Formats: sequence, structure tokens, C-alpha cells
Amino acid sequence: MRPISEIIVHCTATPEGRAVTVAEIDAWHRARGWSGIGYHRVIGLNGERWAGRPIDKIGAHCEGHNTGTIGVTYVGGVAKDGRTAKDTRTPAQKQALLVELTELRDRFNIGKISGHNEYAAKACPSFDASKEYDHLFEGRSKGPRALRDPLLVRGMSGEAVTEWRDRLIAWRKAAGTRGPLRAGGVFDHDVEMETIAFQRSRGIAVDGKVGPQTLGEMELALAARPPFQALG
Ligand SMILES: [Zn+2]
Repeated sequence: MRPISEIIVHCTATPEGRAVTVAEIDAWHRARGWSGIGYHRVIGLNGERWAGRPIDKIGAHCEGHNTGTIGVTYVGGVAKDGRTAKDTRTPAQKQALLVELTELRDRFNIGKISGHNEYAAKACPSFDASKEYDHLFEGRSKGPRALRDPLLVRGMSGEAVTEWRDRLIAWRKAAGTRGPLRAGGVFDHDVEMETIAFQRSRGIAVDGKVGPQTLGEMELALAARPPFQALG
């Protein structure tokens, strides 16, 4: 997984009330000569949350700011005249967008949410995204990859490490394979190696350290769910 620290919010600049699908956006972006849809997530009129470009791939949504960011768009953003910028989000869309942003924030330890209009002379997304989502960072230090969550690394010991070892053991058991670990409270070489094996198997950043992304992925794994990246 590439490093990600920020979400940039967009609109599709389509008229109020017009339904737009991921396939349509994909076709528009291909017509521009891109490899496909430039956004990572799309929020439909009825609050649908669709996957666009895989999150581990750099997007094409904000010139000069595609590295290290995730592009999330809602369908709409222009009045019925097709020209005038307007915040056309339906209540369901607003709610779904908030849930999506909150989940991505926690998942990737996001430190900042911006609107496209903060980086380009455009109205997109037709509302002040920084202001609206500022509350998602209340009490947290803003900025790229602010370290908020405890991180387990080699050399540590304690209850959290005991729990992590138990999860690694459960993960091996569920997969029907044998790992080298037994219950214990020290983050040693074997735990680091098992953590790396786990991260590799789920397609997330491989560093042998246990942060929010690795913990979240473990929850999915133990629930027999596919990797987060593969979720529609
Ligand atoms: Zn935009």
C-alpha cells in the first residue's frame, strides 16, 4: 500500500438529481486518455458507496496532489442548469460521504480532508470540505500522518502485545496453517516475522509494525472477510 495522508473531496459536476454510475465516470476518464476512473470512491445520489480506482493505485483527480491522497467524489455538484456550482448532496449522500470519510480516516490514519477547490481554481466540490469535516480531526493534531494511535513494534511487551500474538495465532489457525508463535507477551523476532507474513497476505503496507491499518485488516481476516482493498 502506498503512503496516504489526505483525502480530497470532489463532485462529478453533473446536474442536480442526475444519476451517474461508476462505469460512466470510468468512460469519461478513459476518453481523456486516462487509465480509467480517477477517483477512488464514488458516492451516489441515494447514498451508495462505490469503489472506483483501487486505493493502492495513485488516483487522477487533483493535478499535483494525486500522490499521497485518496479522491472521493459525490455525484452532482451543479444546479439543474448544468453550469451553476451548487451543493446538491441529498441527505443520504451527505450521510454516506461522512461515513466513507470517517472510515477512510481511521483506516489510513488520514490527517487532513480538503476540497478540490483548495488546490485548483474550480468550484469543485461546491462546498467547503475542510470546514465541514474539520470536526473529524477535533482533538487530534492535524497534518500529514499525525501519529495518534499506539503502534506496536519489536521490543515491546504488555497486554496489547499479548492480544496481538493471540490474533496472529488465530489467523494461522483459521488459515489451517501452522505458525511459529505461542501465547506470550513479548513482541519478538517471531512476532515481527508473522506480522510481516500477515501484512503481505492481505496486500497492505509491509513493515512488521502493528498500527491501525494492520489491526483493522486483522479484524477483517478473523471475520473471514476479504482484504479491505477488495471490498466493493
Ligand atoms: Zn474535483
